[in-house]
Amino acid sequence: MSLNKNQQNFLKAIPSVDRLLTAVQNETELDLIPKNVIVRAIRETLDELRQNIIAKPNQANLNSPSLASTLGKVNLRAFELYALNLKRVVNATGVVVHTNLGRSCLPKAAIDHLAEISENYSNLEFNLEIGKRGSRYSIVEDLLCEISGAESALAVNNNAAAVLLCLETIARNKRVLISRGELVEIGGSFRIPDVMAKSGAILEEIGATNRTHLRDYETAISSETGLLLKVHTSNYSIVGFTASVSLPELVELGNRYNLPVMEDLGSGNFIDFQRYGLTAEPTVQNSVASGAGIVTFSGDKLLGGPQAGIIVGKKDIIENIKSNPLTRALRIDKLTLAALEATLRLYLNENQALNEIPTLRMITVSLEEIKARAHKLAGKLEKLNKADLTVKLCDLSSKAGGGALPLLELPSCCVGISIQNISANTIEAALRKYSPPIIGRIENDLFIFDPRTLKDDEPAVIAEAIGYMLSNIG
Ligand SMILES: *Cc1c(COP(=O)(O)O)cnc(C)c1O
Repeated sequence: MSLNKNQQNFLKAIPSVDRLLTAVQNETELDLIPKNVIVRAIRETLDELRQNIIAKPNQANLNSPSLASTLGKVNLRAFELYALNLKRVVNATGVVVHTNLGRSCLPKAAIDHLAEISENYSNLEFNLEIGKRGSRYSIVEDLLCEISGAESALAVNNNAAAVLLCLETIARNKRVLISRGELVEIGGSFRIPDVMAKSGAILEEIGATNRTHLRDYETAISSETGLLLKVHTSNYSIVGFTASVSLPELVELGNRYNLPVMEDLGSGNFIDFQRYGLTAEPTVQNSVASGAGIVTFSGDKLLGGPQAGIIVGKKDIIENIKSNPLTRALRIDKLTLAALEATLRLYLNENQALNEIPTLRMITVSLEEIKARAHKLAGKLEKLNKADLTVKLCDLSSKAGGGALPLLELPSCCVGISIQNISANTIEAALRKYSPPIIGRIENDLFIFDPRTLKDDEPAVIAEAIGYMLSNIG
């Protein structure tokens, strides 16, 4: 490939690695970044410069690379390379339990306890009463029993693990009856039939997708049946000509045939949302009271705690689960346990739970408060005083998310923006690449911020990001 004179001159003008290495010594911001990261940043910056020059033979506005401009690029690249991959983002989507954005934010009490336990030794597996080895499983058991009304409880790594573990313990090599309407797939490729296969239990679908009757279960029961399974259809709803068997009916059937009944609630919650004007979502307490032998649910969906899988139910079954070797492989770690215990304790007082658990607070916050927040954010954006920026308040709705309350639209008041000559997609990409990244949604060519899921300090972050964006486009 032949290069023109301009290109040859530009290539010659690129500063050498050594020259840059000497120059970066005066860049005090880079003091915190390890030398090998800086060297990599220099190499990558120079490669990019070279490729740019080679790829664009007729670029009139291509400048000869100066030391200062190259140094600026090295600086940026070094910070990018050294940045942590897992970072805080601003959730302006209005989806409270956002599966891609880390589901639930922990309550302050959980964060404090987690910090204390992670910084110090703890009685994780030491019984302080008798001075001998204890069990990590006892740490949240009493609390879970008290809140749910169950005889016994166990927490493991996540709900997928809880389901696997329960099926493996109760129904390995046995047939498990489940309605065709409940063969759920949730995000992250958790599918009931696949988990069932891995557990060694044999899936037996019964009924039809839209209608399953008690007699469908009853006629399918044989000497090989080991479990009746009910799965909460947490992320979809079957509407129209439908019928399903309630948990109490299934329990009654199980009792008659001496078969255990298990319910996977998915997004288990302890609060009756109907009391707060929202649609009914089954509570853990209800499922336990119905007499299910085992109920499983997540710690970080509607519960609002850390990622965990919670199993509550009958003592004999939970004892069997505890002694299953698979439990050791799926066990909960101490940081999760610390956060989970502190979160669960908040549920001893429902008002405290609603006020202090961010997930619950965001779901139950009043429309008045959301409106006030929307006005505040809109005010901050209008104060930027940029002619190119249009700010509107929009009556839209938010979602609980996380495979919870699937059809529920929570009324919300959002802030929508548009910028002259800039598409909503361009705004989306720029905000996504901002530090911290800001994630929202696009509706009718407006970029939408839903205040429901914003933390108190985040409207200011958004205003700063938009200000930065506007000053960089002219
Ligand atoms: C979310 C969900 C699971 C999986 O829970 P994780 O905590 O994500 O492992 C299992 N079953 C149902 C019905 C769910 O909604």
